Amino acid sequence: MVLERGDVANSWRRERWDSLRLLTPNWQARLPGHRYDGPDPDGYMTMAEVIEFVSRFAVAAGAPVRTHITVTSVRQTDDGYHVATDHGDFRCRTLVLASGACNLPSVPALRQAVPGSLDCLTPLEYRNPDQLPEGGVLVVGASATGVQLADEIHRSGRSVTLSVGEHVRLPRTYRGRDVLWWMDASGIWNQRYDEVDDLTRARRLPSPQLVGTPERRTLDLNALSAAGVEVVGRLAAVRDGQALFSGGLRNHFALADLKMNRLLDTFDDWAHRHSREADVGHPERFEPTRAPASSRLTLDLGSGEIRSIIWATGFRPDYSWLDVPVVDPKGHLRHEGGVVDAPGLYAIGLPVLRRRKSTFIHGAEDDARDVVDHLAGYLANTTVRQPGQAR
Ligand SMILES: Cc1cc2nc3c(=O)[nH]c(=O)nc-3n(C[C@H](O)[C@H](O)[C@H](O)COP(=O)(O)OP(=O)(O)OC[C@H]3O[C@@H](n4cnc5c(N)ncnc54)[C@H](O)[C@@H]3O)c2cc1C
Repeated sequence: MVLERGDVANSWRRERWDSLRLLTPNWQARLPGHRYDGPDPDGYMTMAEVIEFVSRFAVAAGAPVRTHITVTSVRQTDDGYHVATDHGDFRCRTLVLASGACNLPSVPALRQAVPGSLDCLTPLEYRNPDQLPEGGVLVVGASATGVQLADEIHRSGRSVTLSVGEHVRLPRTYRGRDVLWWMDASGIWNQRYDEVDDLTRARRLPSPQLVGTPERRTLDLNALSAAGVEVVGRLAAVRDGQALFSGGLRNHFALADLKMNRLLDTFDDWAHRHSREADVGHPERFEPTRAPASSRLTLDLGSGEIRSIIWATGFRPDYSWLDVPVVDPKGHLRHEGGVVDAPGLYAIGLPVLRRRKSTFIHGAEDDARDVVDHLAGYLANTTVRQPGQAR
């Protein structure tokens, strides 16, 4: 059975902002035996469309979902797991942790030093700019969430300062195709976890600066600066009411540009080797990220210039209810390709769980097959103890 604390597609219903669209194109939306079949394969789903897509899959798959049941504790027993919920307890021999990778916002500890006069929001709380007080906004973090929110809030007429650390720059389209088409076609997204050079790093990689819009626009730092968003360095500290930004902005830009160009080289190489040149446009290279003439290093948070802060600093899973010692001191689940470090316990939906695409909707299909294969083998090879039977 599948236990869900809300309704099917709960995270898309409850934890996303109003204007969000997927950054993955519609043709890529697929779950086992279920694909997008609408009129706009190159478009990007709104949240209402994602909810419908996932809900239709749950019905078509006949998934035995029990909704509005919150798991409050999981502990190991002699022959499996004891699952406590707000609607009674269950026992099972195997259990799959499919509770998501983005349950909680990852907010740096320096938040504690921010003056109480400022409104602070995480992306899980943010819905639209009307929630914010009038006045300037500091958005901390420039990955997919940060650039999208900086753009939307700036369009609402507020001045926006965007604090930028390490980030992944991508054009929306390359050589006439969606950049995620290239990730898919060139096999990068299918790369297995045991083939990735630095798996720990790959699992912590920030999300790419991408947005899904009907006009397929690129939302990089050049676009944001040109629109009037002020770009500053990484937020390094908050001291005596001053936000202190790192001076390493140019280095972050150079590194992101370098990595993007390397990726584009890989795409070009793939197109050449697979004789796909005729299917795509000419190779392109993009203007390097423009560094501001001088980016400010401090911002007086008490001056009234900034009235609110959005912490677009990432997400993390919540395992507070998992009473099995499989989470390391940094909060990461100990697992090998989704096979958790406890018999009969599995995970799915975590970054680079088994493939680079693992944390995306279309990544679930291949990972689920592999994880379920292992799980079925485990069940076949372990016997159920009868009451009173010795171990
Ligand atoms: C802002 C944002 C944008 C994204 N955009 C894209 C995108 O464009 N394309 C894409 O492919 N992916 C995107 N993703 C990634 C996306 O989250 C995953 O693709 C997908 O949601 C993963 O599904 P999941 O079922 O593993 O996790 P989730 O969707 O997080 O589902 C986990 C479920 O577990 C339930 N749950 C958690 N704890 C408990 C508990 N204790 N008891 C009972 N139920 C519980 C939750 O209610 C939730 O419904 C985005 C993620 C975020 C945060």
